[in-house]
Formats: sequence, structure tokens, C-alpha cells
Amino acid sequence: MTSSMSSSFTDIIKGDVITVDHPEYISSLARWAKNAERKARVVVFVKDADDVSKSILYAKENNLQIAIRGGGHNAAGASSAEDGLVIDLSRYLQGVRVDAEKKLAYVGGGALWKHVDAEAIKYGFATVGGTVNHLPPVKTGVGGLTVGGGHGFLSGRHGLTIDNLKQVTIVTASGAILTANESENEDLFWAVRGGGSNFGVVTEFVFQLHPQRATVFAGAILFPVQKAKELVEATTKWLENIKADESMTQVYAVDDSGKIIIAAFVFFNGSEEEGRLNFKSLYDIGPAVDLAKEIPYEELNGLMGAKLDHGKSYYLSGLSQKKPCYEATIELIQKLSDFSKTGLKPAVGFEYMSQTKVNSIPVSETAFRRQLAYNILCNIQWDGEGPDRTDEARVLSREITEIILRGQGTLSEAEKQGYTNYGHDLSLPTSLSIAPHLDHQGPSSKVERAFTSNYPRLQQIKKKYDPEVIFNKWYPIEPAA
Ligand SMILES: Cc1cc2nc3c(=O)[nH]c(=O)nc-3n(C[C@H](O)[C@H](O)[C@H](O)COP(=O)(O)OP(=O)(O)OC[C@H]3O[C@@H](n4cnc5c(N)ncnc54)[C@H](O)[C@@H]3O)c2cc1C
Repeated sequence: MTSSMSSSFTDIIKGDVITVDHPEYISSLARWAKNAERKARVVVFVKDADDVSKSILYAKENNLQIAIRGGGHNAAGASSAEDGLVIDLSRYLQGVRVDAEKKLAYVGGGALWKHVDAEAIKYGFATVGGTVNHLPPVKTGVGGLTVGGGHGFLSGRHGLTIDNLKQVTIVTASGAILTANESENEDLFWAVRGGGSNFGVVTEFVFQLHPQRATVFAGAILFPVQKAKELVEATTKWLENIKADESMTQVYAVDDSGKIIIAAFVFFNGSEEEGRLNFKSLYDIGPAVDLAKEIPYEELNGLMGAKLDHGKSYYLSGLSQKKPCYEATIELIQKLSDFSKTGLKPAVGFEYMSQTKVNSIPVSETAFRRQLAYNILCNIQWDGEGPDRTDEARVLSREITEIILRGQGTLSEAEKQGYTNYGHDLSLPTSLSIAPHLDHQGPSSKVERAFTSNYPRLQQIKKKYDPEVIFNKWYPIEPAA
């Protein structure tokens, strides 16, 4: 607490209130991406939904911008607030409880996927989480990933994370603590499944669990750059019959010596023998290194992301691909090489998994925009302690996007947008006159395009639950007139 902050606020909060003179202040601002950190005026490590409600009301009274922090993995600063108030769920709201009979997991709004995977598998279950866990202090959170849609290794079989969400407890802009599910506050439940942090702070998620075998076949297979053509051909063929229980993330990157790395992170929900047979066309190419093996399920999410350290700066962008393209791959490799000496480290990951289950659900059933083909994550890293290089990274990211899109023929606007949770420039609507203190960064069409045909309904629901747009850090929706 500081002298400028009224003691009545700290007295009514059960959790911890951290301000600038607190020994934990600097560590409380830490995010996975250094450039996502902002100097908040106050960070509240909330203990429960009631703490969240009181924090929201306090922020409104004192005209403070609000950010919600789950895992702190968003690179665009969506979970940080310069001179604002951060509602941080990561300290006290990270519990996971499994009801084995009902096959449900009750998960705190600040939990990490690591916690969910480890607890659920004890009962022989799993649900759909992401594909990257990170080292402390910041790991991939359940919160941001889920409200933004969420996909992972099990999406081919079970759909998106939101397709497995049964209920949320959410604190809305008025401070109300609500339960939302298919029969209670249905509009809010619809909106929170893909509408991101636009509607409130989720303090508890309830997920459907599915039977999951204890071990899976997974790991990286590395290919020399000379094998790129064969890899693209084998991938194209493999994709023609892609199954629900397999996936492959192909990463093109540059190592510290400037050498191109091509890694295929394979996953098969079965034994090593089955997995190797399944990826036979890849093995037939002759990999340089093969690290894939049968591993405990709960280790799966920790396989990728070793080079994506905490404390570096990052610029992320998402796009989609309908099919692999050799010409584009060669152009991409050249572009990555060209940039290897600039200090910007780009890595492009092509996430190949069956989209059948995800796209079998009508677009109107949740707020998430579904016409995605295969997701691509373009991730550009630079020294977190050095000068800001966002503008350069943005230009490089656009060049990479153009290369990949050139190899795709006609794509819909939605397909060109890519996955919302991979976006960096989360622009604000220009016509957001009711929140003039916000920094307008771009045309409203960016936010509209993030939700396509679901946008008008989202605007109606925003008007009902957050007419003053106090939740405005992630594709802020403009309330209906
Ligand atoms: C290397 C890398 C790999 C990734 N891989 C995947 C992947 O495989 N699949 C996938 O789906 N995504 C993936 N993502 C994107 C991921 O979904 C986002 O980074 C997401 O923001 C992480 O959630 P978080 O809780 O850690 O985020 P935070 O930074 O804490 O928050 C991000 C946003 O979510 C909101 N939020 C967080 N918690 C809550 C809550 N409890 N209630 C309401 N709003 C909340 C915040 O307000 C903020 O707007 C990846 C990202 C990176 C950088």
C-alpha cells in the first residue's frame, strides 16, 4: 500500500495488494515477453471472486485502466496496464479439482495448463489445452488461451478448448459474480467462448474431461535444409489423410550461428510403434536427428518452446494455410537467413492438425471465428534488455505473411486473419468515443474481422455487460448503439 492509496481498499481485499514501494512490485509485473510488461499503479493478487469484484469497483471509482492476468503469456501486453490496476489470478486462483464421476475439471482462472494436465491424468483423463508450457516465472495460462478459443494436441479429436468448456464463474464490469453455462446467462457463456477478456474476469472454468491413455508418442524430428522439398511433399501427402489423433507442428527458425533449423514436432496419441508407423513418410526422408519417443502424457505440453525464453521481447502474428507450398517454403527459408544477422530471430510454426472436429461446430454456436485452415504462428524474438524493435519486427512479420499467403491462392478475410490469440496489434475501435483516454491504434475493422459474422451479437452482449468498455485490452468490442 502507498500513502496515496486509501487503506480502505487494502483492508477489504483478502489477497495481496502490491504498489510501487512493495518489495514484490517489480516481480509482480513480469510477463513471458519483456515488451509486454507495463508499470501498473497497483497489482491485486486476488483470493476469490469477491476480491475481483471489489477490485473492479475500485478501478472504476479511481478511473484506472484494468488488465486481467491469467498466465501472463500474451506478448501484446493484454494482461498488463500502464499506471492501471492489474487483477492477477495467478497466485491464489490456480487450483484444479477433478470430479472423476462427472468427468469434469474445476479449474481456477489463474491456473496453468501444466496443473490441469498433471491433475487430470491422475484419473486417466485430459482436456484440450495448448501446445507450449514455459519455464517459470511465466507459463501458459488457462485463462487467456480459453477465452480466446484455444487449440492444442487433442483438438483433432475433441475440438477447441471452448468446445470442452461447460461453465464459467465470471465477474462482470458491474462487479456482479455470475455463473454462465448453456442454461444460465447463456448470452455471456456464448460470448466468453472466443470473445476473450471483453466480458469479465473468469475466476473458475469447468471443463469436460475425456479418457486419455497414460503415454503418447511425441517429440522433435529435425531435417537438414536440403530435405525441405521432400518434407513439404511428405507433409502434403500425410495431410490428405490426417487423423484425429495425430498432429505435427513444423517450425522453421534460425539458430544462434545463423543456421536454418527445420523441426517437425510430431504427436500421435498411441504407442511408439504406432507413432513411428504413422509418420513413416517423414522417417523415410531421413531425418538428421530424431528425438520423438513414447512419453508420459503430462510431459507433452512441455516439449516445445525451449528456445522461447522468458525475458526476451516478442512480436507475434497469426495466419492460416490451406496447404503446404514448396516455393513459399524456400522463400521463407531465404527470408529467415537474411534476418539472422540483424538480431531479430524469427520462427514460423505451421500447426498441422485435423480441423474436421473444430469446423464441424457452426460458427454461430460460440463467439469464436471458425473458418480457420491450419494455424501458423509467426514469432519474432529480440533482446529484451535492448531497444524496442517492434516496428522492425512488424515489417518482417508482414513480409513473412506475404510470402506464405502467395503460396495459398484465394483465402477468405477470416483465413487471412489467423488465430486471434496469436495477434499482436490488438487495435481499438476508432469510434470508441466513450473511452477517449485509450490510445487508438487502428481501424475498427481489425476488431470486427477478428469475429466476422459474430461481431454484431458480441456488440449487443458488450452493451449489456460492459457498456463503458472497462475491459479493453484484447480486441475491444464496441458496444451496440
Ligand atoms: C509460443 C506460444 C505458443 C502458443 N501456443 C498456443 C497453442 O498451442 N494454442 C493456443 O490456443 N494458444 C497458444 N498460444 C497463445 C495463447 O493462447 C495466449 O498466449 C494466451 O494469452 C495465454 O493465456 P494466458 O492466460 O497465459 O495469458 P495472459 O497474458 O495472462 O492474458 C491474455 C489475455 O487473456 C485475458 N485473460 C487471462 N486470464 C483470464 C481470465 N481468467 N478471465 C478473463 N480473461 C483472462 C487477459 O485479460 C488478456 O486479455 C501460444 C502463445 C505463444 C506465445
